[in-house]
Amino acid sequence: MSRPGSPGTRPGPELTLPAPTTGAPLDVGTAPAPTNPEQALAELHAGNRRFVTGTPRHPNQDAGHRAAVADGQHPFAVIVGCSDSRLAAEIIFDRGLGDLFVVRTAGHTIGPEVLGSVEYAVTVLGTPLIVVLGHDSCGAVQAARAADATGTPPAGHLCAVVDAVVPSLRRAAAEGVEDIDGIVDIHIAYTVEAMLGRSAVLAAEVAAGRCGVVGMSYRLTAGEVRTVAAVPALAVDAPEPAASVALA
Ligand SMILES: [Zn+2]
Repeated sequence: MSRPGSPGTRPGPELTLPAPTTGAPLDVGTAPAPTNPEQALAELHAGNRRFVTGTPRHPNQDAGHRAAVADGQHPFAVIVGCSDSRLAAEIIFDRGLGDLFVVRTAGHTIGPEVLGSVEYAVTVLGTPLIVVLGHDSCGAVQAARAADATGTPPAGHLCAVVDAVVPSLRRAAAEGVEDIDGIVDIHIAYTVEAMLGRSAVLAAEVAAGRCGVVGMSYRLTAGEVRTVAAVPALAVDAPEPAASVALA
């Protein structure tokens, strides 16, 4: 797996990301929906840039679009995010109805229902990009660390969340990472790896080039996302609005 900050957990073809649409183009929401991982990732970065800079366009949230998508959906990205109330996908990526297929659990843990939901989006709806979305100061990761340190498991089903985070704690310890945000980055990358390890369906879609998986970490204060893992190696952080950037 990749270490946080080093995109790419497997060798991948060199890809070129289109010039970012961070200049708030007039066709946001009316342009054709992305159909491949690179286009989908570019749209997410563009929307996040609009959100960060305070220039959201709230595309696809009007009554006309609501009616237009009532008969079918073709979301261009699956967001497997933490349930944290400050991590609302359509807001931080400045998108609307029909754009994002969102599955959220505390600490973006991935049980069978989550994997089944993601497989549905990718294989039935044809969604070309999966994003594992974590964030700094994640309460689920902190709860897991506290339970692990004290040897006192939490009551009820919260145990399942803690147990799902423990492998990331072990990996962080082995790598000498102790700060919570460093552990979060490792947990995001671990989730990407675990998703493909547990789902032969998703692994096959990625291997066939029909889908990509990116791990992103969101900063609660700044509102921006940062890439910490990608399969194949197609993701980098959104470049400043300038020119096309060749990616390795
Ligand atoms: Zn969280």
